[in-house]
Amino acid sequence: MFLKGCPLRCLWCSNPESQQHVPQLGFIASRCVGVGGQCGGACLSVCPVSALHLGVEDKPIIDWQVCDACGLCAQACPEGALEVVGRDMSVDEVIAEVEKDRPFYRRSGGGVTLGGGEPLLQHHFTSALLEAAHDVYLHTALETSGFAAWEHFEPVLKHVDLLQIDLKHLDPIRHREVTGQSNELILENLRRVLSVKAPQDVIVRFPVIPGCNDSVEEIRDMTEFVMGLGFTQIELIPYHKMGVSKYAQYGMAYPLLNCESPSETDMARLREVVPILVG
Ligand code: SF4
Ligand code: SF4
Repeated sequence: MFLKGCPLRCLWCSNPESQQHVPQLGFIASRCVGVGGQCGGACLSVCPVSALHLGVEDKPIIDWQVCDACGLCAQACPEGALEVVGRDMSVDEVIAEVEKDRPFYRRSGGGVTLGGGEPLLQHHFTSALLEAAHDVYLHTALETSGFAAWEHFEPVLKHVDLLQIDLKHLDPIRHREVTGQSNELILENLRRVLSVKAPQDVIVRFPVIPGCNDSVEEIRDMTEFVMGLGFTQIELIPYHKMGVSKYAQYGMAYPLLNCESPSETDMARLREVVPILVG
């Protein structure tokens, strides 16, 4: 489950549709046949706030400042070129959705994983959802940036079987440059996590982003910090470009142009300085 809303703006974010807390309209231009097609430009005529206009190649362009994601144009489009991402759901509705896949979890040993966005931004909901998952004997995992007040984070943790928490940089200034926020809150939370979780139930994840945090020295410093706190599992997540095409769909510009995934040789060099590697 991906929860919308995130206080960070990591340059390499692969879920840009999860950054805003509210539902958003997305436009998949490759599916659009243009207003001269069989659809007859149905999307243009239904918008109650005139947020759609005719653009190049007879395809609509969206005024993102005006659109309130009502979804009428998405319902009118026969090609699936417009879609609203994000919707309000209750805990019961999410659990009912999750229950549909229970036979799959039984075979795979999986369960509920909450990611985002930042699930701790909705900490009351996240806590209630994970507790409800436990009530029906589902395994729970939480993927978090760790950027949350401890009094919001700590109550959630008792409903989490596996915690996956990121560390992106040790230097607060560099951290702010590449994520939009300082790391002080995250480091403070990392110092506290093992007071309530066992090390085998926590994986600290380092996204490896060329030009941002991928030197041997940076990864070694982060590893030493994490091991010094008593953590026993680190995962290195190499940069990938899978989210790039989504930016245009939501009227956003991708910030990390010209960045390439680290090579296998680069990753091997970094793995050597992480003695507690998992994954
Ligand atoms: S978005 Fe859909 S309805 Fe609108 S022009 Fe494209 S295909 Fe037609
Ligand atoms: S989602 Fe609603 S407001 Fe936004 S462009 Fe479509 S019809 Fe207009």
